[in-house]
Amino acid sequence: MKIICIGRNYLDHAKELNNKVPDKPMFFLKPETSLLLKNRDFYYPEFSNEIHYETEIVIKINRLGKYIEEKFAHRYYSEIGLGIDFTARDLQKKCKEKGHPWEIAKAFEHSAPLSSVFINKKDLPENINFKLELNGKTVQNGNTADMIFSVDKIISYISQFFTLKIGDLIFTGTPAGVGEVHIGDNLKGYIENKLMFDFNVK
Ligand code: ZN
Repeated sequence: MKIICIGRNYLDHAKELNNKVPDKPMFFLKPETSLLLKNRDFYYPEFSNEIHYETEIVIKINRLGKYIEEKFAHRYYSEIGLGIDFTARDLQKKCKEKGHPWEIAKAFEHSAPLSSVFINKKDLPENINFKLELNGKTVQNGNTADMIFSVDKIISYISQFFTLKIGDLIFTGTPAGVGEVHIGDNLKGYIENKLMFDFNVK
């Protein structure tokens, strides 16, 4: 199983980090060990002083596929979840400056909390609302209509490089409003009005 994360897929988020808007989907991988499931506590890692949350719609692949055409991409997923792409922003800044790979900033242990619940896309509107509450206050509010690259385009693009397998996860990028978490924080994520995850930072 692999976890593929899309970077800079929402205009307002690319702008808030002063990043260029990409002309192709930009992606990176996280290992299976980055998953944090069942609302377990996230333990703030010792190697960073600036962990950011990025709330993202997550797609679960349900068919094996390679070189998937965009018009057929919708057949390769039906379940939609919500996750966080935790990012050690301080380490990421250093990596970016030096042109080094990002893994230490993005792929560390438990950097990918994920909802245990997944919703069938048939039970969701075409454009999906999602949000993150930090200590009860909404800090991110997204709608998939604002994606620069649609899920179908992402699947088609990624499958030129990798075979997609059943159970692979795609984190589809974060909207604006990313920010720091601190020890003691509570994070709740919603798709439409359904609570998807609820966990604490320790
Ligand atoms: Zn992200």
